[in-house]
Amino acid sequence: MTTQDIINSAEEHLIHTYNRYQIVLDKGDGVYLYDTDGKKYLDFGAGIAVFALGYNNKEFNDAVKAQVDKLVHTSNYFYNEPAAKAAKAVTEAAGMDRVFFTNSGTEAIEGAIKLAKKYAYLKSGSTDHEIIAMKNSFHGRSLGALAVTGNKHYQEAFGPMIPGIRFADFNDLDSVKALVNDKTCAIIFETVQGEGGVYPAKPEFLKGVRELCDEKGILLILDEIQCGMGRTGSMFAYQQYGVKPDIVTAAKAIACGLPLGAFMATEEVAKALVPGDHGSTYGGNPLATAACVKVFELYEKQQVLENVKKVGAYLAQQLDKVVEDYDIVKERRGAGLMQGLELTMPAGGAAKECIDNGLIIFTAGANILRFVPPLVITEANVDEAVIKLRAALDNLSK
Ligand SMILES: *Cc1c(COP(=O)(O)O)cnc(C)c1O
Repeated sequence: MTTQDIINSAEEHLIHTYNRYQIVLDKGDGVYLYDTDGKKYLDFGAGIAVFALGYNNKEFNDAVKAQVDKLVHTSNYFYNEPAAKAAKAVTEAAGMDRVFFTNSGTEAIEGAIKLAKKYAYLKSGSTDHEIIAMKNSFHGRSLGALAVTGNKHYQEAFGPMIPGIRFADFNDLDSVKALVNDKTCAIIFETVQGEGGVYPAKPEFLKGVRELCDEKGILLILDEIQCGMGRTGSMFAYQQYGVKPDIVTAAKAIACGLPLGAFMATEEVAKALVPGDHGSTYGGNPLATAACVKVFELYEKQQVLENVKKVGAYLAQQLDKVVEDYDIVKERRGAGLMQGLELTMPAGGAAKECIDNGLIIFTAGANILRFVPPLVITEANVDEAVIKLRAALDNLSK
């Protein structure tokens, strides 16, 4: 099929939920992607913060291939070795006691909400609990996750949402306190807001919410689907705040592209769920969890966290110079290799220019360019990206 045939066929048969770039990606190698016309792109999107180890990593590919030949799927009525190993790796990395594996981020949020509700139900015997979420948040597209997503535009046509969700202002502790009452069972937010525009939680906010939760017997759920798995320089972002949630969600980079998500909890909370309460046909199947096990091994072997700290600081420094040099760039924010550049205009045009220049980049919020590259990028890759970015900004500044 020619490039245009592929695009035409996709547009004819796929439900039109995305306005796609007119590019057909064909293969990847390291931090580069290639389209069907042979054009090369430096990838600062990583499939939306997923492909942490870069493309065509031989050890990762070999592990996945070996598991394909051995056993792809079993159901959760039996044990399998990759799931057992992945469960140990991810709970140890998060400092949590137990995990449930899902197929996606949004399902991890569904599970986290169900766990919080069941825990509250066991405590009080009633079911009219409330959850406090944040404005400008993003937790996924399924109906439970959508209900805690503070974006009216995403919710509008799909109501009624599940009841009992209240929205506070992110990084405003008083606005959270004002919503707490006897029914509040959980507070949920992203440690670093991703889709909403790359806003890290302020330390005093995260610590303040933790104290509030302890005082009132409320569960703290941190959504680390995007900012977890090393993206900010620690395995999970909350580890840099000295705060531990009761429930944490992960997905995106957790199996580097194999469909896997997870919600984890402390023993005390996790034991609220018993056989029959929750389940998944595929969730944590041997193929996805074998990939996850290899991801943890390779993070160690390739010293991914050290690289994020070093190259993340370098990226921040280079982006700060961009802020100084361009009137149309207002601010840089972020942590590690999760950075946002706020423009004075919608970011879609800038992203398009970057992609034309061979730099794949996503937007967040309306005006923010989002940098979420593979976690194995080098300072030279950052230099290359910034050259392409500056060329795009030069064009837009004309
Ligand atoms: C991407 C994302 C989700 C949803 O994950 P899916 O795998 O797309 O369902 C939820 N929360 C956050 C913070 C995310 O970035």
